[in-house]
Amino acid sequence: MSKYIDRVLKDVQQKNANEPEFLQAVEEVLSTLAPVVDAHPEYEAEAILERIVEPERTIIFRVPWVDDKGVVRVNRGYRVQFNSAIGPYKGGLRFDPTVNLSVLKFLGFEQIFKNSLTTLPMGGGKGGSDFNPKQSPHTPGQRCSDREVMRFCQSFMTELFRHIGPNTDVPAGDMNVGGREIGYLFGQYKRLRNEWSGVLTGKALSYGGSLIRPEATGYGAVYFAENMLATKKDNFKGKLCAVSGSGNVASFAAQKLIALGAKVITLSDRSGSIYVEKGLSQKDLEAVMQLKNVARGELSEIAAKIKGAKFFAKARPWQLADKLDCAFPCACQNELDGKDAAYLLKHGCKVVTEGANMPSTPDAVAAFVKAKILYAPGKASNAGGVATSGLEMSQNSEHLSWTAEDVDSKLRGIMKAIHDNAAAAAAKYGHAGNYVMGANIAGFTKVADAMLAQGVC
Ligand code: NDP
Repeated sequence: MSKYIDRVLKDVQQKNANEPEFLQAVEEVLSTLAPVVDAHPEYEAEAILERIVEPERTIIFRVPWVDDKGVVRVNRGYRVQFNSAIGPYKGGLRFDPTVNLSVLKFLGFEQIFKNSLTTLPMGGGKGGSDFNPKQSPHTPGQRCSDREVMRFCQSFMTELFRHIGPNTDVPAGDMNVGGREIGYLFGQYKRLRNEWSGVLTGKALSYGGSLIRPEATGYGAVYFAENMLATKKDNFKGKLCAVSGSGNVASFAAQKLIALGAKVITLSDRSGSIYVEKGLSQKDLEAVMQLKNVARGELSEIAAKIKGAKFFAKARPWQLADKLDCAFPCACQNELDGKDAAYLLKHGCKVVTEGANMPSTPDAVAAFVKAKILYAPGKASNAGGVATSGLEMSQNSEHLSWTAEDVDSKLRGIMKAIHDNAAAAAAKYGHAGNYVMGANIAGFTKVADAMLAQGVC
């Protein structure tokens, strides 16, 4: 590693010692940048790395709300506005009890490079709250009611609205923030500002959303993997694919995989994993989507209704099949560790495509890179969601709605461009086939050059 990178890493570790996820993300990116930093001494002269690891602004705020029993509850809200060198801050909102500053800084940092890779003018940001819509604060085992979620979202936006705007910061959904939450947040923003604008993406079609936005992250990950397979003159026909998660990203990745002739043999959630040796059908998947998006239940409740499905309580999906070809981690960070990676490699896995952000631990990443399989890091392969958010912003500002075919074909084109850029950057710096190096270098270079051009700010 270059002395410059080493020095910056030590400084980041010292300043952020209690932020493990953020440190993991920074180490992952910086440890791959030596070739480009060595070739461009101006980056060190202008302190680009020191600046890129520090958020431009971090907002932390109180979110008071009243539950259905009339009790006042207080959560913590955040927005990390990480880097606006190439466009307005852009990145999702996550509502989950695991949300803290470390998690949001890791996600915001990743988002800078991901957004840069999309080729669209979007900076990096992330936000959310430790609010848990899946657990009512007054009745154990019950979810928050729609009214409670609405009151929370309205209070959250009552502070956030002064920090965002269509040319400043454009949040979207992430874990536990889907169409329902975006609707409540948008309604409150509009009321406070007295203006209709494309300030949030992931909106419903009836008020400015884009066709294919819900599908885009999952579909995009599969398109990225298709491009990787094409470099080996291969495709998805008959491939056995393990998918983790059963939320937005996982369900649409699974839907596209089945459509392309692959067999999706697993899905998971916090209750456990289902394994279906013969593969899920599109009808099974529709039942899972209904369960997760409408009934808001757990996979354990539906396993018995899916033909041939076995349910493994509290298990992750990686070590359930004796043989598989591809893995799609689409649930959460650090959900696939070194032992899982060793198992996957031993049992035939040749393609790993991350739908989630940072789902593979550093030892798992090292194992995939060492084995020289087709391994796509999330910042490249899950960029389809934010790219389509960018397309939603374009449609809003032009007051236009494109057809599903239009958006899907643009998404395919963007995923191919991301794949080709990452592959070309890796090859240029002597690491052909290493998509980790390629994605980091290509994403970083564009932002670093924009920062250079804008002076010290
Ligand atoms: P959802 O909330 O729709 O789904 C998340 C899924 O992951 C659920 O099935 C959830 O289970 C499961 N999950 C979450 N945490 C854990 C855990 N600790 N252990 C086991 N399972 C878990 O979120 P998304 O699908 O939107 O997001 C999934 C990942 O993709 C995240 O990393 C997100 O940052 C990333 N991503 C999302 C994008 C998007 O457009 N939505 C864009 C780019 C990346 P349960 O239902 O039980 O909670």
